[in-house]
Amino acid sequence: MPGFELIGREEKEQIDEVFAKGGILFRHGFDALRNGVYKVRDFERAFNARMGTVDALAVTSGTAAVRVALAALGIAPGDEVVTQSFTFVATVEGIIEAGAVPVCTEIDDTLNMDPASLEACISPRTKAIIVVHMLGTPARLTEICAIAARHGVPVIEDTAWGCGGALHGRPLGTHGVMGAFSFDFAKTMTTGEGGMIVFQDPVLAAKARAWHDHGHENNPNLPRWEDSRASSGFNYRMMELQGAVGLAQLAKLDRVVAVQVAKAAALRQALQDLPIEFRAEPAGSAATADAVIFFVANKDVARACREALLQVKLGTKILPEAFTWHFAGTWDHMPALVRAHGGDLRKAFPRSWELLGRAVSLPISLGMADDVPQRMRSALGSVLG
Ligand SMILES: *Cc1c(COP(=O)(O)O)cnc(C)c1O
Repeated sequence: MPGFELIGREEKEQIDEVFAKGGILFRHGFDALRNGVYKVRDFERAFNARMGTVDALAVTSGTAAVRVALAALGIAPGDEVVTQSFTFVATVEGIIEAGAVPVCTEIDDTLNMDPASLEACISPRTKAIIVVHMLGTPARLTEICAIAARHGVPVIEDTAWGCGGALHGRPLGTHGVMGAFSFDFAKTMTTGEGGMIVFQDPVLAAKARAWHDHGHENNPNLPRWEDSRASSGFNYRMMELQGAVGLAQLAKLDRVVAVQVAKAAALRQALQDLPIEFRAEPAGSAATADAVIFFVANKDVARACREALLQVKLGTKILPEAFTWHFAGTWDHMPALVRAHGGDLRKAFPRSWELLGRAVSLPISLGMADDVPQRMRSALGSVLG
């Protein structure tokens, strides 16, 4: 959740500097008027340094980050892009916007992409794989990247929910060829609306940078209107006020994740004697701990857990109730997805239905009071005890 919980003086000072030094809100040009203030550029450089990548490109949203990443790979109509059944609609929307066919895998007990299902979903038309780290827990990246490499298909990490997490010491978003981040208001760090792509390959970075800016190749020695162009594109540019907020939020990222991890550990500790099974984490995971998720015996028990928590004014988040926006099995409003799965999404993901139906998600917030784990324990104990 949480970046928004820490919005304060640092974000305001960053914004104030933009206005104090000329009020230039556009990331490019106006060099004589902006007194050296380039917030979006600085935010990209700082994010790139934090992730240890080759380049970083700020964009208007996480959805735009997915779309631009696919454009950089040259994804075109007729291509298939494989992602997972449990994700936010945005991942699939990015694929549809690229004109490609969205194919979703089943999830496994990590609640992320099931490597065996990925293997089964890859076809000769598969041109990209988008793996998602739902609610901050890493997917089985080692297995997934190995399968992708064997088939010669690039991996994009939808890191909207994994910002600040890592696997085997390497930040999430930096295991595939590109990592797409979201800074919307509910994400681990926020710019209100915004996103970022990180790159391992300067050629992909250059393509993405041009495509997100109408094809502008941003030749440093030319005025903007004389820029060269090799392709058309779109406008997904971040603006200076978002860049300013991003710089302040990035400086708080590690603290946000550390607090979440500590709160999640306390919550797990309080629940450990209950007959539940925690969501699996791949070996070497450093999750962002956006939520503590566990499985119960069946859907009815999951719903009873939710009711018991609501009665003491403690909410669940996403599961078990919110299938609507986060589970492909219910997206009948996406004809391309329905067609790709044989015309009936309800039958397409039996294992995902089963797992999600008996999962309970407890949200972690920075401001979570110290007595919440015990209150959750006693509410859940009344159902599971
Ligand atoms: C939030 C989110 C996005 C989209 O991000 P926006 O910045 O809201 O456009 C994409 N994918 C996943 C998994 C998300 O949770």
